[in-house]
Amino acid sequence: MFQKILIANRGEIALRVLRACKELGIQTVVVHSTADADAMHVRLADESVCIGPPPSRDSYLNIHQIVAACEITGADAVHPGYGFLSENAKFADILAAHNITFIGPSGDHIRIMGDKIEAKRTAKRLGIPVVPGSDGAVTEEKDAKRIAAEIGYPVIIKASAGGGGRGMKVARSEADLVVALQTARSEAGAAFGDDAVYIEKYLEKPRHIEVQVFGDGAGRGVHFGERDCSLQRRHQKVWEEAPSPALNAEERAHIGGVCARAIADLGYSGAGTIEFLYENGEFYFIEMNTRLQVEHPVTEAIAGIDLVHEQIRVASGGGLSVRQEEIRFQGHAIECRINAEDPRTFTPSPGTITHFHTPGGLGIRVDSGVYSGYKIPPYYDSLIGKLIVHGRNRVECMMRLRRALDEFVVDGIKTTLPLFRDLVGNPDIANGEYDIHWLEKYLAKED
Ligand code: ADP
Repeated sequence: MFQKILIANRGEIALRVLRACKELGIQTVVVHSTADADAMHVRLADESVCIGPPPSRDSYLNIHQIVAACEITGADAVHPGYGFLSENAKFADILAAHNITFIGPSGDHIRIMGDKIEAKRTAKRLGIPVVPGSDGAVTEEKDAKRIAAEIGYPVIIKASAGGGGRGMKVARSEADLVVALQTARSEAGAAFGDDAVYIEKYLEKPRHIEVQVFGDGAGRGVHFGERDCSLQRRHQKVWEEAPSPALNAEERAHIGGVCARAIADLGYSGAGTIEFLYENGEFYFIEMNTRLQVEHPVTEAIAGIDLVHEQIRVASGGGLSVRQEEIRFQGHAIECRINAEDPRTFTPSPGTITHFHTPGGLGIRVDSGVYSGYKIPPYYDSLIGKLIVHGRNRVECMMRLRRALDEFVVDGIKTTLPLFRDLVGNPDIANGEYDIHWLEKYLAKED
């Protein structure tokens, strides 16, 4: 087991990892920018190292500073959290070259899944169902037209290097396609430094369903069921739940089994998420994330297993603590992402939190790095906390969520809490009847 883990992240996820390390008796080092000197993760860690000025590229993305912080403090492993360097293959390789364990998969696996065209090819080879579309990158207009005609309109053009919901264009006709191909390529080139794009069938009313997987790196793979993350705004998840209200036990076992086998065949190590669009009873792979996800706590709630403990165990060579048949799901869990944003316009609302009161009681978990008097710096993501609620079934979970949202107080800044208070009372949400466009349509109506 590791002696000392360096956490290369900030905010709620830094705290989340820190808690897991403390439970396992592992010393913790955190790194931080000058803007985060007062952050909770810095206060609670055994050691902290300031690695640079506020902009992420000079601090949380500064590989050399982070490696130097490991060397100075004697950390033997790094947990990257999510975002920042968590899916940076070069970072994983550099750590390996310094004999420091990256708590995540190999650089090669990160590289495969980071390139969406390569990821899709790999998924197909491993027997995972994919969205119909081009076999690889599309550069010529005539190829784009031919492929779109074959799969049928509407189609979506996506950047191979894309991420965070950026770099996607929908085309409903051949005339649209010509323009969409050009704009998608130039936007992808400007945003990601790689203008490779590919074409997929555009699904009109899918749900976003993702499977949590784990590999031990030695040919074993398990799945921890699915999460439904269909409630999205601008392709960003807002509300996540487990299990999905749309799946039955048979579908769950089937897709879980397909994913676990794929992970085993790949020789994958650590946590991963295989993301699908789900429509008319069919699953279509869209991408795989090679890290812990923001929404992992809903899985932890229903599986009763700490996924960060599991990541640390696997990375230290201790293997998975559970076999597939030992993983059982209980009840229902929902997560609300609380952002420091205006609940209507979604413009960021940094500033000082004058009062912060979190709900409590049975089935309530709040993962947050903020506190009363904390000043939210304007430089980073606007996520300030996550409310995760667990109940014996979806109805109980929703009742508890409503109560918890009423209890939650964040004064001094605007947050997305009012949006969740509206959503929890909505009949479509109560019935679990929503697809990936539901939230955008709802927000448009409210304006
Ligand atoms: P990113 O890596 O940028 O998050 P994804 O490939 O995961 O990109 O897609 C993000 C979101 O975009 C999906 O959750 C879905 O809402 C939408 N999307 C992606 N592909 C399709 C498709 N083929 N049809 C319809 N919507 C799609």
